[in-house]
Amino acid sequence: MREPVLVSACLLGLATRYDGKILFEPAVSSLKERYLLVPACPEQLGGLPTPRPAAEILEGDGFAVLSGRARVVNRRGEEVTGAFVEGAREVLKICRFLGIKRAFLKARSPSCGLTPAVGVTAALLLSAGLEVYELG
Ligand code: SF4
Repeated sequence: MREPVLVSACLLGLATRYDGKILFEPAVSSLKERYLLVPACPEQLGGLPTPRPAAEILEGDGFAVLSGRARVVNRRGEEVTGAFVEGAREVLKICRFLGIKRAFLKARSPSCGLTPAVGVTAALLLSAGLEVYELG
């Protein structure tokens, strides 16, 4: 059986992005040959709607958010830290339930990205010992 891996849902062209756009990441096609792809969107799993205002981590990264030293705020100035942390925890639950050890996550996202700063979900998965790669 192919190894199950977590993939940011938006990379598969699912309508999970904050702006509601559908953008398929071509690199996913080759991943599909090798792995069993398990799509998830931490921001939706944290209870946020789609579309939703873009959000950013203020003064820190996902590790700082998880330890209570930074916040996530959207463009309307509303704090969404709780939803980001809850969504990250839900994604980790999926990984644990399915024995997932690797994740391929969307770059430049305050949840999923590794760059320019590690997102909240990426930080939680790294802390839990998963290998995390960035796409898109
Ligand atoms: S980058 Fe992550 S949080 Fe943002 S839409 Fe994609 S899966 Fe959801």
